[in-house]
Amino acid sequence: MQYEFPNIKLLDHLQLEVEDQEGRLAARTRGLSSPLFSWAFNRFFDIYNTIGPVSTIGASNVYTLYVPPIPSPMHARHTEAFLRRWLFRTRVPLAVTIGVTDRCQCRCVHCSAVFAGAPITPMTVAEIQRVVSESVALGATNITFTGGEPLLREDLEEVVATVPRDKAVSLVFSNGIGLTPERARSLKEAGLWGVQLSLDSPDPEEHDRLRVWPGCFDSVRSGVAAARDAGLLVGLSTYATNEFVESGFLGRIAGLGAEWGANELTVFDAIPTGRLRNQDGLLLTPDNRERLIREGLELRDRYRAQMHVVTQSWTNSGAGFARFVGCLAGHYQFHIKADGSFRPCDFTPLTIGNVRDASVHELWHQLTTHPAYRKHHKKCRMQCAAFREKYLVTATEQNPG
Ligand code: SF4
Repeated sequence: MQYEFPNIKLLDHLQLEVEDQEGRLAARTRGLSSPLFSWAFNRFFDIYNTIGPVSTIGASNVYTLYVPPIPSPMHARHTEAFLRRWLFRTRVPLAVTIGVTDRCQCRCVHCSAVFAGAPITPMTVAEIQRVVSESVALGATNITFTGGEPLLREDLEEVVATVPRDKAVSLVFSNGIGLTPERARSLKEAGLWGVQLSLDSPDPEEHDRLRVWPGCFDSVRSGVAAARDAGLLVGLSTYATNEFVESGFLGRIAGLGAEWGANELTVFDAIPTGRLRNQDGLLLTPDNRERLIREGLELRDRYRAQMHVVTQSWTNSGAGFARFVGCLAGHYQFHIKADGSFRPCDFTPLTIGNVRDASVHELWHQLTTHPAYRKHHKKCRMQCAAFREKYLVTATEQNPG
């Protein structure tokens, strides 16, 4: 498939051909500037060859739920965003998370999305349509709907349908409750690409205790099956505390994910935000972080070509390719809460403005020029006490979500 870069005048004459050759992505360049870019493109696509595909959709491979299928028109946009960053230092928000409701059945002990104070008025479909359209115009290729619990919105299918299928993939983060075979099929028909289901523990009773919802573990298991049967991609997400690492939960959760047929497992670090605010004791010790990274990479290899395993500890490690990832907030990502509050990421309670009062373009500009986000950080800002003390004390008091 030929990739074009219409927003980069300099590359008018560059042609990039991307194809899968017996399971390996190959990139061929033609045109005047070809020698200059050939090496870089090969390195870029080799990153995916290292991971290996976890699914196939038509003539495209899926390597991770965070990146559109390759090759595809969405991935051509994704590649263009990296070129704009590399050549002109232009920051493109590739991943946008949008809260669509504050309602949820669970009362998770670690919830990062709690709303305090008066009830909120969630964005309407028309408002979401506008922010999706403005985000895609900025370059977003991954739109993820979060909550609260997004499935509680009866019009979630209309919300999903706001994402243009030729420009970005759409995902829903869910606790699994309500992800019936019928709902999974109707979301798929609306254009949904995949679901991300939370699994906090490999032990059913412990997962249900942490979620304060009996039967939640079973909902995740049946939700994975329903999503798979409907043709949706499935990611599991969990979060690591010291106890999680020391109990060997990662291997057990990965085993469940592989057994159930998940395509990806994401392991976030425990972050002192929301209901975990001020609980710095949960932050991973250096030894446990190292162990988590090592085990995550081992599991990535073990489940290669079946389920991609990625840990936030690795993406924030600065090692190898991870040095280009680091903290995504304000660099590749932003978050909009269900009430329209515009934030750096879904774990950072620092409100820059509201999409009800300003364009996404304007707010992205404010975020990327904010003193805390001008420079790229390898490590998680929210795990840095100095960052939280300097930028969040007031914001957190006013809005603990
Ligand atoms: S602050 Fe950065 S690294 Fe930490 S959770 Fe947010 S985006 Fe991820």
